[in-house]
Amino acid sequence: MKYTNKSINSYIGDLEVEFYPWTGKNERDYLSLVEKCNKEDKEATDKDVLETLIFPVVIKPDIKTLNKLSSEQQKLLLIKIREVSISDEITDDVICPECEKEQVIKEKIKDCISYKPKSFKDVVVQDIQITWNTSPHFNNTKKDEVINSIYNEFLCYVQDVKIGEESYNEPSFKDKKEFFDTLPTKIFDEIFNKYTEMKDELEIRTPFKCKNCEHEDTIIYEHIPNFLWI
Ligand SMILES: [Zn+2]
Repeated sequence: MKYTNKSINSYIGDLEVEFYPWTGKNERDYLSLVEKCNKEDKEATDKDVLETLIFPVVIKPDIKTLNKLSSEQQKLLLIKIREVSISDEITDDVICPECEKEQVIKEKIKDCISYKPKSFKDVVVQDIQITWNTSPHFNNTKKDEVINSIYNEFLCYVQDVKIGEESYNEPSFKDKKEFFDTLPTKIFDEIFNKYTEMKDELEIRTPFKCKNCEHEDTIIYEHIPNFLWI
């Protein structure tokens, strides 16, 4: 005996996606994962989230294509599934920076998010030139903690490296890691900052107007507050 859910069609940029809303089982699987992570005093990784909340409900595209989504695109997909499965609103407790009065804000998710697609061009720093792969495969790069995931995602985007007159076309992940691990911080940071400006970006922000003193502000979130079931 099975309940037949209706699937939803949507878009991530120009990629068509089709998925089912989460079921009670998806919810329990995710909560078990969070409980396990809490016990081990760590956070759920992007890979954990992909495997418990995205893979089981997405019909289209296939897993291979899902592994090519950037972290920001995965977040966007997660937001779309959450909107239809749980609620299209977010609520947050905010303390006014002016009068310090606490209040609750309630916003539609679609009014809080904006997505800027990536726009890569070659980067040259001193005698190093980097060209980018705009559609790399990310499997296995998202299993680490956040800082390493961000670095690994960067490494996946690197396609060719030219050092002086020497060209390295499509070096392996291991070779790229060795190269960037051995670069002086100053040069690495300059390359990484340029990459950060060109990569895609999901921004979550909401206007805030205090009900007490009318102070106006914009709240920028790292993550959507009270996003899933917890
Ligand atoms: Zn106020």
